[in-house]
Amino acid sequence: MSDKKEVRVRIAPSPTGSLHLGTVRTSLYNYLFSKKHKGKFILRIEDTDQQRNKDEYTKEILDGFKWLQINFDEGPYYQSERLDLYRKSAQKLLDEGKAYNCFATTEELDALRKSQRAARMPEKYDNRHRNLTEDQKKKFLDEGRKSVIRFKLPDNTEIKWNDEIRGYVSVNTNDLGGDPVIMRGDGIPLYNFAVVIDDGDMRISHVIRGDDHLHNTAKQIPIFQALGFEVPSFGHAPLIFTHDREKLSKRKHGDIANIDKYQREGYLPEALANYLVHMSWTRPDHPEDEIFRLNDVTNEFSLDRISKSPAVYDLPKLHWFNNHYIKEKTTQEIFDLSKRFLEKELDLSIYPKEQIFQMIDLVKSGLNKLDELPGLIRFFFDDKFDLGSSENQKILSGENARKIFDKVIQVLNSLNFSDPHACKLVVDEIGKGLSVKGKDLYWPLRVALSGSNKGPDLGLIISLLGKEKVKSRIEKALRVLV
Ligand code: GLU
Repeated sequence: MSDKKEVRVRIAPSPTGSLHLGTVRTSLYNYLFSKKHKGKFILRIEDTDQQRNKDEYTKEILDGFKWLQINFDEGPYYQSERLDLYRKSAQKLLDEGKAYNCFATTEELDALRKSQRAARMPEKYDNRHRNLTEDQKKKFLDEGRKSVIRFKLPDNTEIKWNDEIRGYVSVNTNDLGGDPVIMRGDGIPLYNFAVVIDDGDMRISHVIRGDDHLHNTAKQIPIFQALGFEVPSFGHAPLIFTHDREKLSKRKHGDIANIDKYQREGYLPEALANYLVHMSWTRPDHPEDEIFRLNDVTNEFSLDRISKSPAVYDLPKLHWFNNHYIKEKTTQEIFDLSKRFLEKELDLSIYPKEQIFQMIDLVKSGLNKLDELPGLIRFFFDDKFDLGSSENQKILSGENARKIFDKVIQVLNSLNFSDPHACKLVVDEIGKGLSVKGKDLYWPLRVALSGSNKGPDLGLIISLLGKEKVKSRIEKALRVLV
């Protein structure tokens, strides 16, 4: 890469769907690359597909980037506002004989594909209208046929480039499906055309995108050249696959590819960013350091360290990152970030804020995502848990449960509920008196008070629940024993 060239990169999502995990990962690589080279990062919304575009998707895309704190130096630019430019460029290519009108009808193209399939040939447009005479064109026009504009790809030519991620790449133009349509009959450009004009016009120096675009790049390079633009450098990052080597798809994998799922379920943006970058890139000097914030690694970032192998979506790993970043937050921050989940499921007014903070502290080390928080502290708020599960039944039917419960009821009035340690000591005293200890002592109480034999310190549970709740829950458990 020449040192003098200003680095200008872009991300160019189409608002035909929600913001995709793969788009975000590509954005992060672009972001890091632009920061490393003190360049510019541009957002362009590729909204030329009027049938499939939706304003709500544009909004989701913009919101998603904001949530992830991916900031842009320029844009958003909208392709729908640049149609004139595409039309003029298409006309220029027509005038120069580098593009042509193709009058083939849908039926004719279908028939072509069918015959190719029957002959076990690759399906492609056969460039049949590349060299029409004026008379032939007139005949088609007189028939009332509509035309599209196709770009004349060079025949049987290797399109080569030195990919910043994949190294040397070469694609033969014969494998590109014939001359590509660049403008539809209604004057709307196709992706491969608009993208070149914009990348050229916006002086994009490096196109960093998913490797599903390799063949598009081979189509685009001759278009850059035909329009007289300098050809940018390209870097194609591997796509994200599932463990069974499938592309993330909505039909099969639900919304795991949509960023808004992660927003909705309480993932932290810094965790998701760290996870996505780390999927295919490690720090050059400290590859073992998996935890990093974007701004800490910009100087170390380079495209040639992005792995060429497919990235694998690994939810437990994402949870590991998320859990790490959650634990780094203060209790107040966790509370603020989780408030929408807590308020939806729990009546927060029944405890003072300090006690809710204590509950959060008790469980935060086990949180994979913030929407799990209400479930983990729910037992403080109601006793709708199931004492009758077989595991709980086993614990409650032990010979000591009733004796322990009776004793606890007896000492309730003298318990100092504001001191968790003292509460625990009283339980231990009761145990001594009954010659019961360990799980035989604690588990029946845990089950009675929280519905589970696992969980936070028993003294803390008793202290936070307070006298009335401890009493009513033990009485309820005693009734189950009967
Ligand atoms: N709009 C294209 C997409 O969403 C952009 C691809 C590119 O980066 O050129 O796939």
